[in-house]
Amino acid sequence: MALRMPQARRKRQPIRHRTMARDRPTVYVAGMSPPAGQSDHEEEEADGLRKVIHVDMDAFFASVEQRDDPSLRGKPVAVGGSSGRGVVAAASYEARGFGVRSAMPSVRALRLCPDLIFRKPRFDVYTAVSRQIRAIFLEYTPHVEPLSLDEAYLDVTADLKGIGSATRIAEEIRRRIKAETGLTASAGVSYNKFLAKLASDQNKPDGLCVIRPGEGAAFVAGLPVRRFHGVGPRGAEKMARLGIETGADLAAKDLAFLRANFGSFAEYLFRAARGVDLRQVRANRPRKSVGGERTFFEDIKEPEALRETMDHIVDVVWERIERAGTRGRTVTLKLRYADFKTLTRARSLPHYVADKAEFAAIGHALLEDLMPLPQPIRLMGLTLSALEHGESEERPAKDGQLSLL
Ligand SMILES: [Mg+2]
Repeated sequence: MALRMPQARRKRQPIRHRTMARDRPTVYVAGMSPPAGQSDHEEEEADGLRKVIHVDMDAFFASVEQRDDPSLRGKPVAVGGSSGRGVVAAASYEARGFGVRSAMPSVRALRLCPDLIFRKPRFDVYTAVSRQIRAIFLEYTPHVEPLSLDEAYLDVTADLKGIGSATRIAEEIRRRIKAETGLTASAGVSYNKFLAKLASDQNKPDGLCVIRPGEGAAFVAGLPVRRFHGVGPRGAEKMARLGIETGADLAAKDLAFLRANFGSFAEYLFRAARGVDLRQVRANRPRKSVGGERTFFEDIKEPEALRETMDHIVDVVWERIERAGTRGRTVTLKLRYADFKTLTRARSLPHYVADKAEFAAIGHALLEDLMPLPQPIRLMGLTLSALEHGESEERPAKDGQLSLL
């Protein structure tokens, strides 16, 4: 069967402007207080206008596989497990042409694209490439905020090489990534994080897009709200019910309306609809732990059910550990009983936990020590801490934990 032209390759409308204006006009939004105390930069500007680049590798895991195995080039490739419960972690652009997306069950992906080639993820290789690109970023600015292995924000308001133009820096970084890793990256250049991230997605793959001061509001006005960072399918549905389809629709609503309907999300949406984002690029602070926990629909007590749950949590948490490219020495088990009493038990090793089998063995040993449980539990969690310094690749969730449900 012939491959269809991948839709993702069709570029969205290109934006022509190629240089950042040196004079940055002030954006004033009624009802907003200046971002006092938000800065970890001494050169903070009250209007929140900075030079921000968002760099995003194109179909990262899949592109690495195609780079390392020429027989995969030009073919639909998915990284992930092909078995019954497998999920697509990344899809090549050829696979995306068939509608294959990351986080899609592999069974469904195969139905959409019967010729799909699956490859097991090789996180050690992805982590190594991630370090390579991080090293390139750090030559231009110390203000690098990684979002994952293949994505980062760079604040180049005052770049280390004195280049001055964020667009030139973005082009240079893309060229160097290509030369040094053999992989393509897309970049978005703008005056805040929200717009830079939208921009990097605009001309993917291997593209560049610049949104200059003064253009943000117009750019956002035409966008479907689904493309706003943080608006998921359900959020978009809710907005559709309220008659909000685009950035312009959103900008037409006042803050009180947004507060009534979107709670704490309101301020962010209000600003985003105007192309304003006050969040600073924050250099990554090493995370302290990687973990996950699970709350049950029904409390459990049976030893077999407890062990099965432990296996499941080990699967999920170990994948996070691999994605984070980190190692750690302490494993902590957390249980919450039906009466909400919570207890933790930890074990520390003299060495880093070697692999998933050792991680699982420690988790199970901690659990077995507590059995038989005095009462059913409603939550189980497992965390790896005492991490290798500076190995962090992902930003921690608020409390360092992510829910598994
Ligand atoms: Mg990417």
